[in-house]
Amino acid sequence: MIGQLAGKNVIVTGGARGIGRGITLGLAAAGANVVACYRTEGEHVEALAHQLKETPGSHRLIRADVTDVEDVERLVDEAGSGHRTLHGLVHNAGVISPVRFAELTPQEWHRVVDTTLTAAYLLVNKALPLMTAGTSVVAIGSRAATVGIPLRAHYTAAKAGLVGLMRSLAKELSPQGIRVNVVAPGTIETEEAARDSSAERLAYVERHRQIIALRRYGRPEEVADAVAFLLSDQSSYITGETLHVDGGI
Ligand code: NDP
Repeated sequence: MIGQLAGKNVIVTGGARGIGRGITLGLAAAGANVVACYRTEGEHVEALAHQLKETPGSHRLIRADVTDVEDVERLVDEAGSGHRTLHGLVHNAGVISPVRFAELTPQEWHRVVDTTLTAAYLLVNKALPLMTAGTSVVAIGSRAATVGIPLRAHYTAAKAGLVGLMRSLAKELSPQGIRVNVVAPGTIETEEAARDSSAERLAYVERHRQIIALRRYGRPEEVADAVAFLLSDQSSYITGETLHVDGGI
């Protein structure tokens, strides 16, 4: 992957933790200049800042809530400071919660839909002036959008909405040479998830693995590789597509 994204300026939302951290590090390793946003301060942000300092390129970590219009504007302004073109935008930030549909409140519906779907609209809308022919937008969707999951109606609705939004943008922005795609992961084992080694979770994982052709969960780096491909010129004829990274479900 080294050099594949040399000199490309890329924004990654939710880029300090979980899959987003894998994407930030993967893109930086591939030569991109990464502006990653995070919402919550913590040691993980400092550790990532340190890691990025050791990685060639110009990388920045910016605190921004993607559901806040002013924060998104500031994120985009900072990414474009010095008249930088934006070659890549990766909307990875997302939230999920298990809620029975009968108990799903408007607040929780909006929290999930705003973080995934409305933020995607805001980010692309605000960042468009920085985009040019060759810019590639990638939204992190979910396999759940096509299969559905009980207790996650708000989440699956938001992720399915992303697919429609991205397909329409692919068509509307193609005259400007901008490509727009979705990467839809299956279950990805993040560091946070792996910390739960309870017998209950391990039994669940064992059962769940049986429906995955590759019989294992994915890794954040494997999502990062798919994102890097879609940001790179190697995918120059791919737009409006949803790339499933799910080990075969
Ligand atoms: P995590 O919960 O580990 O990370 C979520 C990330 O989103 C964090 O970096 C968090 O930042 C950020 N975030 C949440 N809300 C906001 C906000 N309002 N503004 C800015 N950042 C925000 O999730 P994963 O890494 O597991 O998932 C990443 C993406 O991949 C999500 O979109 C998720 O839906 C999708 N996905 C994950 C799968 C999996 O199996 N893990 C499967 C399919 C899809 P902070 O920590 O600073 O709050």
